[in-house]
Amino acid sequence: MTDAARPGSVLVVGGGVAGFAAVRELRRRGFEGELTLVDPEGLPYDRPPLSKEFLTGDADAHRLLLAPPAWFAEHRVALVARRVERLELDDDARPRAVLDDGAVLTADAVVLAPGGRPRPLAVPGGDHLDVAVLRTRADAERLAARLHVGARVTVIGGGFTGAEVASAARAALAEVTLVSASAAPALAAVGPALAARLHGMHAAHGVDVLEGAVTGIDHADAADSAADVPHTVHVRRPDGSETSVTADLVVAAVGIVPDTALAEAAGLAVDGGILVDAAGRTSHPAVFAAGDAVRRRRTDTVPAHAARHWEPALHSGQDVAAAILGEDVSDRGAPWFWSDRHGVHVEGVGLMLPVPGGRIVDRSVRGTVVASFALDAAGRMTGAASVDDPMAVKAARRIIDRGIVVDPDRLADPDVPVKALLRG
Ligand SMILES: Cc1cc2nc3c(=O)[nH]c(=O)nc-3n(C[C@H](O)[C@H](O)[C@H](O)COP(=O)(O)OP(=O)(O)OC[C@H]3O[C@@H](n4cnc5c(N)ncnc54)[C@H](O)[C@@H]3O)c2cc1C
Repeated sequence: MTDAARPGSVLVVGGGVAGFAAVRELRRRGFEGELTLVDPEGLPYDRPPLSKEFLTGDADAHRLLLAPPAWFAEHRVALVARRVERLELDDDARPRAVLDDGAVLTADAVVLAPGGRPRPLAVPGGDHLDVAVLRTRADAERLAARLHVGARVTVIGGGFTGAEVASAARAALAEVTLVSASAAPALAAVGPALAARLHGMHAAHGVDVLEGAVTGIDHADAADSAADVPHTVHVRRPDGSETSVTADLVVAAVGIVPDTALAEAAGLAVDGGILVDAAGRTSHPAVFAAGDAVRRRRTDTVPAHAARHWEPALHSGQDVAAAILGEDVSDRGAPWFWSDRHGVHVEGVGLMLPVPGGRIVDRSVRGTVVASFALDAAGRMTGAASVDDPMAVKAARRIIDRGIVVDPDRLADPDVPVKALLRG
């Protein structure tokens, strides 16, 4: 792209890791034009610690910031602490963003990075104001204040966020019940053996694990200060029987939904996320999108799987910056994530669901599975996950990205470092 074809101004909507990465990468690549970042939350901050060290009180709000306040002035980034209410896209005019105070911002290019919202708990009582969710710093602050010794906490959802909240609640010595629809959540991310091991850790750490589907939640009248049971969570077990759990605090952690409202209202193509190509281009030439809000088109018509984790969000923000400047976008390879619970560190890369003809290989140390690998029919690795062995996943990632065929017996052998298999 010639300098003349580069946009003179870029407006980024959303200051999570994706929006912030787009801004930082634009400056890193020498973009000298006007750069504006709009987010009602103000200074961009990071979300993974919200269910970990921030929730347990081991990190303060300052530690969440993606950059110190001075960084924005130094890099000539205008921060606007407002919500974008509407995006107006006329074919003949520059995109216009209407803010919640009525102000209008225009720019040559717009990056949409509004992230996701907690998936609503679609049962009677599930939308009560006192059912806690965890997406923002304010959510985490409210939650942290209610995790204390003896508090009866029911966490709904056994995925990564629910597991981390249950773990933080146990660290606060709360009495925790975890309701999970699956006996082995996170199976697609870590494979069956590690999913079972990780889920089993809850009971070992004193969490009451209840398998079943929440059918409704009763809430005591707030005016009834004598009520000893603020919330009653009703659960249908897999055998069809009904049970209920009483709680002082109910946390719903049943996934996220991409925030596509702005994009949809502006007429952009949306299908389970704002549809983008590999460089983050939406269906409008002046609008790009990144992060948890997007879903990448695998081809012109087929949307691909969306990896809603921190690193893919970071990369997609960086890639959008390159695309805006007409520069090449790197091939990022298999998506990577991490999670922590009950003192262990989990990492995964790629997909752990076996493909047709493929298999899962487990690696155990003294009878405990420490890593699992998914291989396709030809013996190529398609996914890997580990508990407390990040080096195994780091090596596996390179094996996956290089398409190396591996020997399953050596892969299963804990005495063979995974990186030794990089040689095939
Ligand atoms: C509690 C928690 C723990 C997590 N832990 C892990 C982990 O351990 N490992 C991992 O890999 N991933 C983790 N993730 C996932 C990871 O944090 C997300 O994938 C990442 O934050 C997505 O970044 P994003 O910028 O797309 O969206 P977000 O971080 O959600 O940021 C979106 C921003 O857009 C703003 N916004 C929305 N609408 C508008 C609007 N109309 N106008 C202006 N601004 C708007 C919002 O205020 C928000 O600040 C975790 C997520 C959460 C919530």
